[in-house]
Amino acid sequence: MTKQIFHVDMNSFYASCEQVRNSTLRNQPIIVGGDPKTRKGIVLAASYEAKAQGIYTTMPLWQALKKCPQAIIVKADHNYYKEISHQVMDLLDQYTPLKEQMSIDEACLDMTGCDEIFGQPKEIAAMIQNQIKEEIGIPCSIGISSNKILAKMASDMKKPLGITFLYPQVIPQKLWPLSVGKLHGVGEKQKQLLEKEGIFTIGSLAKYPLKRLSQILGNKTALMMHQYANGIDERPVITTDPQDVKSISNEKTFSQDLVNQEKIKKEILLLAEKVGWRLRQTKVQGKTIFIKIKYYNFLTVTRNITLPMSTDVTDVLYQQAWGLFLKNWNQKPIRLLGVGVTNLDTLSYEQISLWASANETLEKKKKIDHAIDHLREKYGYDVLQRAATIQGNSCENE
Ligand SMILES: [Mg+2]
Repeated sequence: MTKQIFHVDMNSFYASCEQVRNSTLRNQPIIVGGDPKTRKGIVLAASYEAKAQGIYTTMPLWQALKKCPQAIIVKADHNYYKEISHQVMDLLDQYTPLKEQMSIDEACLDMTGCDEIFGQPKEIAAMIQNQIKEEIGIPCSIGISSNKILAKMASDMKKPLGITFLYPQVIPQKLWPLSVGKLHGVGEKQKQLLEKEGIFTIGSLAKYPLKRLSQILGNKTALMMHQYANGIDERPVITTDPQDVKSISNEKTFSQDLVNQEKIKKEILLLAEKVGWRLRQTKVQGKTIFIKIKYYNFLTVTRNITLPMSTDVTDVLYQQAWGLFLKNWNQKPIRLLGVGVTNLDTLSYEQISLWASANETLEKKKKIDHAIDHLREKYGYDVLQRAATIQGNSCENE
């Protein structure tokens, strides 16, 4: 049976949330992000009225205000957006248990076979869209196809309040003419590499020989991008129940053993960063932080530390992991490093805000995490890295 996948994407999510909370902001050009007083920072989200004036996400605030001086700036309130996100996700659960939350404002639903209960896909999508708009106040776009990538691409095609079908048979007309940068997963860096090769559209990427593409993007990314461009995506909709997750970790094997302390430090930061991101995406926090060191001779050591309170803050994970490493490294060459968190709690929003206000430095660190997560949710994980990029020496074991 052909799958029926819905991708539900909230439109201008943060800005829409603000317009729900404060009715005087409705139909106004509003910008979320930055500091209203100093006018520093970047645009995290803009309402459609602001977008119509040429304002886009990640634009520096001063530039946005030059384009649209009458724009109203609102400070981001991530706890509030999470609350609204929670409401949306709970509402989607009424339609199917097969829901995968992709980011704060997006989810994939596997609706295969649901037409017998709710009606035709178009009617179901309209029902979902109306219910979210009426009960929560947020507009969304829905893409419908037979897999996740096509549904995602479809949901991007009409905003706000679109319902778009993108089945494999219409790929050449509807998907291939688009700019290659529009393909989900193609970041700015990949876009530049592809354009240098003369690949400007998703269609030319789809027809490009995979072998040559691998030389440009690396095997893993090349295969994925090539399949996506051809509308192929075997990934199932995975329901992540935070209750089922026991630990979250990340490790890397190095093709050349590591001995340089500065290099090791950067690797530990990269590992901690991914673990923090995964914790926050899964909406869990953990108390016990552990590291794994595998030496050139395969001797493996794991060590852990338990904190008084659970955390999902990247910098806390990093500092603890680095401390554990320094205490336990025998100065011998390292083949593999791992960082992880266990002793997990599902996250309670009230708890976080209490915590955050109790500790100002921690609150700052959380804000940094939120800002980075936001960009990654929009543009993919690799859009930025805190540490200098370490090239060529490692492969990741997911
Ligand atoms: Mg969105």
